[in-house]
Amino acid sequence: MQKQSNPDSLIAYNVLNKKIIRHGFCTLCGACEAACPVGALQVESEKVNRLHDCSKDLDLCPICYEICPHSEALQLRALKSVSDAPAKHEALGYYRKIVLAQAVDPQLREQSRGGAVVTSLLTYGVEKKLFDSAIVSQAEADNPSKPKASVALVPDDILSAVGSKFFPSSVAKAYGSAVYGYGKTKIAFVGVPCHVLALRKMEAWQHKLGNSLAITLGLFCFGSFSMTPLLEYIQKNYNVKPSEIKHMRLSSKFVVQTANDVIRIPIAEIEKHILPSCRTCTDFTNELADISIGSAYPLEDWSTVIIRTKAGEDFFYDAVENGVINTWVMEQEPNVYERVVRAAIQKRNAALKEAKTMEEKFGYLPVLMLRESDALAQVKVEDVMTRDVKTVPQNMSISDLLDLMTRQHHVGYPVVNDEGVPVGMISIEEAAQIDKARREKTLISQVMHRKPAFVNVGDTALDAFKKMSKHEIGRVLVVDPENPKKILGMVTKSDLMHTMIQCTPC
Ligand SMILES: Cc1cc2nc3c(=O)[nH]c(=O)nc-3n(C[C@H](O)[C@H](O)[C@H](O)COP(=O)(O)OP(=O)(O)OC[C@H]3O[C@@H](n4cnc5c(N)ncnc54)[C@H](O)[C@@H]3O)c2cc1C
Ligand code: SF4
Ligand code: SF4
Ligand code: SF4
Repeated sequence: MQKQSNPDSLIAYNVLNKKIIRHGFCTLCGACEAACPVGALQVESEKVNRLHDCSKDLDLCPICYEICPHSEALQLRALKSVSDAPAKHEALGYYRKIVLAQAVDPQLREQSRGGAVVTSLLTYGVEKKLFDSAIVSQAEADNPSKPKASVALVPDDILSAVGSKFFPSSVAKAYGSAVYGYGKTKIAFVGVPCHVLALRKMEAWQHKLGNSLAITLGLFCFGSFSMTPLLEYIQKNYNVKPSEIKHMRLSSKFVVQTANDVIRIPIAEIEKHILPSCRTCTDFTNELADISIGSAYPLEDWSTVIIRTKAGEDFFYDAVENGVINTWVMEQEPNVYERVVRAAIQKRNAALKEAKTMEEKFGYLPVLMLRESDALAQVKVEDVMTRDVKTVPQNMSISDLLDLMTRQHHVGYPVVNDEGVPVGMISIEEAAQIDKARREKTLISQVMHRKPAFVNVGDTALDAFKKMSKHEIGRVLVVDPENPKKILGMVTKSDLMHTMIQCTPC
């Protein structure tokens, strides 16, 4: 007899469908398909299909909603995968090292049109049997800009995935088939931040799929495009068929390469085709990956590499010592560092702004995790503040300030006068807006934000968070109410995030 749908069942799919899929927030990663215990979902043809109604078999299942990277569930627990790193950067997340790197093989760099660090690391790992497979996004034969998520078993599979494709790739689905289909147990995974988050959520959920994850290589990501509308737009306006596109590349413009032509499309022109989820996504540098990799513009064939975990560090330097990867010090390239940090800050700020609009429209906020917990109300600022506050004098030049930021990996400082009294705040965003030619002669006092925000040493971390939100800033100074001119400490948004991670049970 046909089983009836159970209207009283607590089935995560109902929430997934209502909050994520129907509102267009799905980025087609396939994590819900891979993790579903009864095979009820299938990600195919740019949508999530429900193959059968799981409520006929189950009364309760929380999995697909919790594991979806666009739900608020498990976000803080997922962050625990990297939070034992010795350093934490306000804009770039937890890290051990930030370096420049490139594949030693120039042919690979040519093929990747970047540093080819991902391809070299994966090839090295598979050849040395450090992992048994890798999840990559190859190009579809009849539509080379379309990613085809696949399980790479040998170096040739990895080589055929070189280069970026700017459309959604169902890499978490491919990860599921590596485990269930191929029986793989030590898998290297490559993906953009929402892909890596889905995998980290599987680990945090203690889903059995999580046990097979060996290493995550995370790509930086500004956003991904909705495939069919963008390809139709390019065909209509530039007369290029999808099958004629050899590859796409992102620089100051969106570059489409065919056999005979190169088309440069202004980003503003195609911005409307960026996926809705990307507009509220705060993570540019893939903050949960073992190793994060992005471009090193303006250096053409180098990549920026952020090493976050011990496993990532050991693997990366093993590859360096074995002559697969060249490295270079970031401190020698302040331009690269400045661009990465600014891109991360800009993406986060734009996402938080958009999230507020979406909250009004949809009645919930996809990304503002900090509001979810009352943990901050239980903690005093003096317990989370940085006591050794680095300040800068108001008469320092902007070029010296930017050098200092690159060396110390800070993105903002309190500014003090000759008496050491705080007179303002300066961030990398304000400093980088000054024309390069004018940086030597421009002083901090000319560009700084003149109203530093303060909290008292007895206030709670929640008070500090409210002040940051009200003033739309990332840090507040902590002072003694008896002597408000003396800085006792500083609290940043990332300090608050760290506090919440520590308060979250495993
Ligand atoms: C959608 C998207 C947006 C990006 N935006 C930025 C950005 O704004 N700024 C920036 O610095 N870098 C961005 N990147 C990362 C950048 O394009 C490079 O992927 C990165 O620098 C690694 O370069 P590489 O030469 O080491 O990679 P390669 O050695 O060429 O290897 C690239 C790897 O990426 C994987 N891949 C390709 N397309 C996808 C996809 N759609 N989904 C998942 N995996 C994929 C392939 O499997 C391949 O293994 C973006 C990447 C993507 C996919
Ligand atoms: S059974 Fe599958 S589709 Fe249903 S709620 Fe669970 S994970 Fe989602
Ligand atoms: S888990 Fe992935 S495929 Fe499933 S709804 Fe969420 S984003 Fe879409
Ligand atoms: S911007 Fe965020 S949501 Fe969009 S593809 Fe990149 S990581 Fe995923």
